[in-house]
Formats: sequence, structure tokens, C-alpha cells
Amino acid sequence: MASSARYEQRQLLDQLMGSDLLRSRNGHNNNYRQREPEITDHQVCKNYIMGLCPYELFQGTKQDMGTCKKLHSEKFRIQYDREVEEGKDFSWLELEVLDRLHDFLELNNYNIKTAMKALDNESNVQDDMMRKQINAETENLAVAESNVNITIQEIKKLNELGEIEKSLQLMDKLKEYKVKRDFHMKELRKANDSLTQSLQQKLQVCTKCSAYLSRLDSDKRLADHFLGKIHLNYVKLRDRYQELSEKYSK
Ligand SMILES: [Zn+2]
Ligand SMILES: [Zn+2]
Repeated sequence: MASSARYEQRQLLDQLMGSDLLRSRNGHNNNYRQREPEITDHQVCKNYIMGLCPYELFQGTKQDMGTCKKLHSEKFRIQYDREVEEGKDFSWLELEVLDRLHDFLELNNYNIKTAMKALDNESNVQDDMMRKQINAETENLAVAESNVNITIQEIKKLNELGEIEKSLQLMDKLKEYKVKRDFHMKELRKANDSLTQSLQQKLQVCTKCSAYLSRLDSDKRLADHFLGKIHLNYVKLRDRYQELSEKYSK
């Protein structure tokens, strides 16, 4: 992802997560806040409670978005885990997290779509240019080859007629034609190779995390991606989102 896109993502995320609240997570200089925070407080990060805060999940990765502006409380996390086990209703919290996940993933979906479109346009233009070049070089080669063949026939005829001087003149022409033929052959091979390479190298976009993947990537590199922190976190966020939306669509 381009860094400007990442910046925008961060800005949007700040808005979503409420950056205006609780700038000091340590509590000092927060004189107006006398009481202990409660789990329902607006400044408490509900995503963190469910282990789904993107700020935390992507920390230290290429998609690091900085620090969450809301309060990350281990205490509430433990409380949530325990009380969910006990069957307590947390729909108010889960619906809030569902909302946040929705917006966050929509943004990523948009990035995926944009990246796919950009790849499509770019590679189509390039491939079309290469195809045109291949067609042009194929024609050039055909012309050059026919010139070589015709000249060889003419030299044969002249030799049969004993016209040695004319035949020698044509030999020079033949050399020229052969150089041209070899040149176009090389050009055609080059154009063919680059089209093949381009088709193989075509990038694709990971539909889970919007990263670019190459078809030439080795299995090891692909595995590294699919086991990477960013990819796995998106899978986690998407799975949990799916789960929650199913739970609350009934
Ligand atoms: Zn958070
Ligand atoms: Zn991925």
C-alpha cells in the first residue's frame, strides 16, 4: 500500500476509534478523570477487549498505525472473557466492535479493489504494446526472409549463366539481407520473451489483506505471506467480523 493511502487509513481509523478521547493513556495530567474507568466508558477500546484492535494487531508491522487513542485495559479483557464464559450478555459491546470492524474492513476492501483495478490497467497496456511489437517483428522477419530467399535464387541463376560479376554484387546484398533477418529474429525473440515473462510475473492482490503477490513467488515466499502477521490478522478480523455479523443478523 502506498504510504499516502496508509496515512489516510490511519486518519480514518483515528476518527473511527475516536482520537479525541483519552490522549493520555497513563492517566497523569488527566485531572478531570477522578474515578476509575468502567468497561462501558466511551474512552475504553472495546476492540481491544475482544482482542480485535487494529492498532494493537498491526503494531510493529508494515501497516503499523501507531498507538490506539483509546484505553487498552487488560482488566476489562479478562472480565469480558470470564463473564462471556458465564453467559453474560455483551451484545452492546459486540455490536460496537462489529461496527468498527465493518468500517475498518470496508476500507481494506476498497484498497483491494483499487489495487486490482490498477494492476489490470497497467498490465493490459503493457501486454498490448508487446503484442503489437511481436506482430510488427513477425512481419519484418517475413519480409527479410523472403528477400534472403529471392536473392539466393537469383545468385544461383546468375552463376548458372556464368555472370560472376553480377553474382558477386548480389552476394553483398545477400549479406545485408541476412544481417537484417538476424536482427528481426532477435527482436522477435526478445518481444516474445518479455511477453511471456510479463504474463508469468503478473501480480495479484491478496483478497484478505490487499498485499501484492507475484505468481512467480516461490511456495516458500507465498507461505511466508500467508503465515505473516498482517495477513493472519486480517484473516482473524474478517473471520470475527463474519461471526459477529451472523450472530447479530438473526
Ligand atoms: Zn484500541
Ligand atoms: Zn494476504
